[in-house]
Amino acid sequence: MKVLVLNCGSSSVKYQLIETSLEAIEKNEDHALGRGSVERIGTAAAVHTFQAAGRDKVTDSKEILEHRDALADILRMLAHPERGVIAGPADVDAVGHRMVHGGERFTASALATPEAIRAVQDCVPLAPLHNPSNLRGYEAARRILPDVPHALVFDTAYHQTMPPVAFLYGLPYVLYTRHAVRRYGFHGTSHRFVGWRSRVLLGKPREQTRLITCHLGNGASVCAIDHGRSVDTSLGFTPIEGLIMGTRCGDLDPGAIFHVMHAEDLSEHQLTTMLNKHSGLQGISGVSNDMRELLEAEAKGHERAKLAIDMFCYRLRKYIAAYAGVMGGVDAVIFTGGIGENASPVRARSVVGLEFMGLKIDPAKNAAAAGMEADVSAAEASVRTLVIPTNEELIIARDTVRLVAGAEQD
Ligand code: ADP
Repeated sequence: MKVLVLNCGSSSVKYQLIETSLEAIEKNEDHALGRGSVERIGTAAAVHTFQAAGRDKVTDSKEILEHRDALADILRMLAHPERGVIAGPADVDAVGHRMVHGGERFTASALATPEAIRAVQDCVPLAPLHNPSNLRGYEAARRILPDVPHALVFDTAYHQTMPPVAFLYGLPYVLYTRHAVRRYGFHGTSHRFVGWRSRVLLGKPREQTRLITCHLGNGASVCAIDHGRSVDTSLGFTPIEGLIMGTRCGDLDPGAIFHVMHAEDLSEHQLTTMLNKHSGLQGISGVSNDMRELLEAEAKGHERAKLAIDMFCYRLRKYIAAYAGVMGGVDAVIFTGGIGENASPVRARSVVGLEFMGLKIDPAKNAAAAGMEADVSAAEASVRTLVIPTNEELIIARDTVRLVAGAEQD
């Protein structure tokens, strides 16, 4: 079946059309027919980029004012006589939606029934920036493709297996019961995908694996996966906690926030913007939030670029060691996301000093691994280090197929 996978942001829609089925999942033979994005929705110069598998990328620019127009344009592109990959919208069998926050209500993906959509709306206060865009995209897609099943796949759902000792903050308990203040975690689809791939590569069932997955993109998080279940993860109530990220600060003493707020006379909005957009690699280096640019600047002797990279790797190393402690050991550490898949120096610097727990990278294998699956462990390492490109869209398409077929989710 052909599943249209949608990831709707406030002014963008990213999409893939994936050919998949229960049999194809079993054989790992499901694949994308095409992928694209519409950016700058709401402007007269929105940009629609599309690439059919095995063909050149095409780009159109036009006025696209709403998500509904973007969806219509996506279906036109997919069914374009020369560039497209389907005969018409009727060829789309189902739609899979990436949803950011499913609160405690969603512990797995779900079909988009009216009741499920109401539950996602109830989660809007937990993700006021993301869930409304996701819902707007869902409503637009439902209107354009009313007769096919729609599925909801949540960033948070995978982490609902965390125990209270991991998900609660050391705050008055009543804030959890009254306001649902707890750690939720994000990037669940990515952690789940690379966890599954690594078990395939290691040739081990979930019952025999303790994994630490490091999703390092602009946003970044680490996850401890014990027996196939997320038992801890570094993002929390919001996607600020944990690692140092492109523009987000990661772990921070809340006391520092109040001090800065008073000292700089900042409003709540200014403070939120500072923590989310002007901190992390960008804030420390003063150069860029982009790891590629930072590595280049560091090579030219830029000291704060070096400091930012060092801090990024140090924080990650702390989490890797902590999560090995949480699980009482670890069989493999997996790197994914734009940085994890491509930045070999970051991988190397993040495991320095962890030889005592059996983690050691082979420098040549590590340097050669970029954007592909690879085992970069040193021969003598007892803990494997793997590089696995993530594929969140594939998980969304697979969950959609399983929900439609009434099959068990993995
Ligand atoms: P997003 O979270 O927006 O999906 P990505 O997963 O694409 O982001 O990751 C973006 C990050 O990956 C950027 O910091 C970018 O510099 C980094 N990156 C991509 N390619 C490389 C590379 N070859 N070397 C180092 N960093 C890279």
